[in-house]
Amino acid sequence: MFVVMARTASEAEILGVKSQILAEGMTPFDHQGSERVVIAVVGDVGPRKQELMSRLAGLPGVEGVTPISRPFKLTSREFHPEDTVIRVLDAAIGDGSLTVMAGPCSVENRDQLFETADAVAAAGATVLRGGAFKPRTSPYAFQGLGVEALRYLAEARDRTGLPIITEVMEPSQVDIVAEYADILQIGTRNMQNYSLLRDVGRVARPVMLKRGYGATVEEWLMAAEYIVSSGNPNVILCERGIRTFETYTRNTLDLAAVPLLHHLTHLPVIVDPSHATGKRWLVRPLAIGGVAVGADGVMVEVHPDPDAALSDAEQQLDLDMFRSLMEAIVPVHEHVQSLHGDPVLATAGAGAAAASAGADGLAKH
Ligand code: PEP
Ligand code: MN
Repeated sequence: MFVVMARTASEAEILGVKSQILAEGMTPFDHQGSERVVIAVVGDVGPRKQELMSRLAGLPGVEGVTPISRPFKLTSREFHPEDTVIRVLDAAIGDGSLTVMAGPCSVENRDQLFETADAVAAAGATVLRGGAFKPRTSPYAFQGLGVEALRYLAEARDRTGLPIITEVMEPSQVDIVAEYADILQIGTRNMQNYSLLRDVGRVARPVMLKRGYGATVEEWLMAAEYIVSSGNPNVILCERGIRTFETYTRNTLDLAAVPLLHHLTHLPVIVDPSHATGKRWLVRPLAIGGVAVGADGVMVEVHPDPDAALSDAEQQLDLDMFRSLMEAIVPVHEHVQSLHGDPVLATAGAGAAAASAGADGLAKH
């Protein structure tokens, strides 16, 4: 449930509500909206729900108490109608600008990373990616350079000024990855690794949560809820394709998830056409598609010599292909931005509309 405070509520009244929630064994999370404070009551309320709602409704400064039917609370638009904007170094993610995360699947050596970093930065990328700890399907495949790669990534950040994102695979790696990286990535295979989610929820770094390849949108948002409820509000969602019966593509890119997520949640959404398709020549059209449906950005794998790459060789773009992708997506993004205000395009910035649609604003078929 959410406690909606009156516009005129004092600090003391807000504190009073929060301490009552704590006394009931629940956890309060407050959000200062544009007009008023909303306090989410998080925890397992059980059969006391009605009783608790009326008790909270009677406290001074409270305008009303709303039950929330969705299982995700802190990540929902209802709690937080405005888009979350994540700022990291000079980059802003979710503010209407186009985020482009680019770089190699794996950091293989210093030269390979620097050559890629310089090229993607010059072409307009806003975040540098590179895998240090690699989740590989085969235990015999290249597993990543680990901490050595983190050091090269930090050097590449100094060189280019771009913030760096890299994957953290297990709780024991969280501190070291957070020491070097600006954004922590949780990979598809770990989307429901709840102890890892809680641990990245405790660090002061934004987290990009990739969709589990077999996860529903609701399971994905519940995974994001683990991170936010552990104390880290800066979560980015990344649609990277789900497993279907199709075999020509590595995964099936769920583009409908992008506007759907913008309706359900205030968190920024990134599309990864590289892991979604597994094929270099399909990356550009699907990056265009992702931006066209309102994604806040894309993540693409780029390598100076993709055929020689130690991982995901078939899907990495070479430097020219990346430049050509940028030329294609920038105007598409500008066009999508110009459509804002079009009620049909209920994507980014749809906070008010989504909030007024209420808990059941989406028809279920
Ligand atoms: C990656 O981005 O390096 C990666 C391994 O992606 P995913 O978790 O989506 O497979
Ligand atoms: Mn990869």
